[in-house]
Amino acid sequence: MTSSRPIAFFDMHAQQRLIRAEIDAGIARILDHGRFIQGPEVAAIEAGLAAFAGARHAVGVSSGTDALQIAMMAEGIGPGDAVFLPAFTYTATAEVPLVLGATPVFVDVAPDTFNLDLADLARRVAQVAAEGRLRPRAVVGVDLYGLPADWPAIHALCAQHGMFALDDAAQAFGGALGNQRLGTLAPATALSFYPTKTLGCYGDGGAILTDDADRAELYRSLRTHGEGKSRYEVLRTGMNGRLDSIQAAVLLAKLPLLEGELLARGRAAAWYEQALGGRVATPRVTPGATHAWGIYTILLTDAAARERVQASLQAAGLPSAIYYPKPLHRQPAYAAAHASGLAAGPPPLPVSESLCTRCLSLPMHPYLTEGDVARVAQAVLAAV
Ligand SMILES: *Cc1c(COP(=O)(O)O)cnc(C)c1O
Repeated sequence: MTSSRPIAFFDMHAQQRLIRAEIDAGIARILDHGRFIQGPEVAAIEAGLAAFAGARHAVGVSSGTDALQIAMMAEGIGPGDAVFLPAFTYTATAEVPLVLGATPVFVDVAPDTFNLDLADLARRVAQVAAEGRLRPRAVVGVDLYGLPADWPAIHALCAQHGMFALDDAAQAFGGALGNQRLGTLAPATALSFYPTKTLGCYGDGGAILTDDADRAELYRSLRTHGEGKSRYEVLRTGMNGRLDSIQAAVLLAKLPLLEGELLARGRAAAWYEQALGGRVATPRVTPGATHAWGIYTILLTDAAARERVQASLQAAGLPSAIYYPKPLHRQPAYAAAHASGLAAGPPPLPVSESLCTRCLSLPMHPYLTEGDVARVAQAVLAAV
């Protein structure tokens, strides 16, 4: 038996110990200058985020959800528009088109990457186009768990149908395809700084990355009530969707750690692979992709096997979580939208259904030791 130090699912304390003094100083500076909204920290973190991702512009906003919303508002997405998105993702991805009066059309995911299944996407886009009731308008690709979606294929399909591609990279900041980081792979990329994400603040926060100056300007206007050049000129319907100065200060202290933390997440994933690969279904990394390892998810053979593994982990005092127990089209809030998305009746979503019964996420953060991973793996293997 190795050490029995507690293992966190996400560990925010180990990181905080490294930068606590800097965070305290950053917050103290804001208390002194008093610019709590749109203070200099916001512009500074926007520059840092853009540089990190290799994107031209970053616009700080109030959450990942608001990043998605502002990005869709900027395209004028609304009633009559079909927005295609995976059925296997966090609820926010589906909520935003509905809030804007658009219709989410749920698409199945690939069983090995957990990301949009391009063949199923193409089928559903063709069906919506053929029915002619809704306009195929946008695809939201989610980089689930940190693995970049197949952006080249998503672009090709969007170009063919004149659709907008929006990257929901809330779980994946730091991920890349080839040498291009997320933030440059779609016309707009939404980030979340919810505390447990790969780059998290100490509250709610988010950002939109884009290479397009006109879009960036629209996002800045929309996050501040649609204001124009002067503060009391209102050009469009916007929202109150700003990133606040204190959260920006937290992010400024954390961003310099991110490069190293991504490498540490990759090391932890490799330890898991070594211990579990071949015994349970471990995550597949698409060739050429850099996984951000926001969440580490294995697949068990069925629901009963997952229950046994969860019980085994729990008995060993180890945390685990299910992302996600229910596909979005089964959620009470979205079932009606799903039924109405395609008049001819939406095709089934068998992979999303199956993953929800079999997926299990294990502790993943940059401060896991090889011994920690061995203990988790041992508890998993004891039950399979
Ligand atoms: C966390 C998350 C969001 C929402 O981000 P918030 O900052 O919590 O609003 C959106 N999409 C996905 C895939 C997420 O994981």
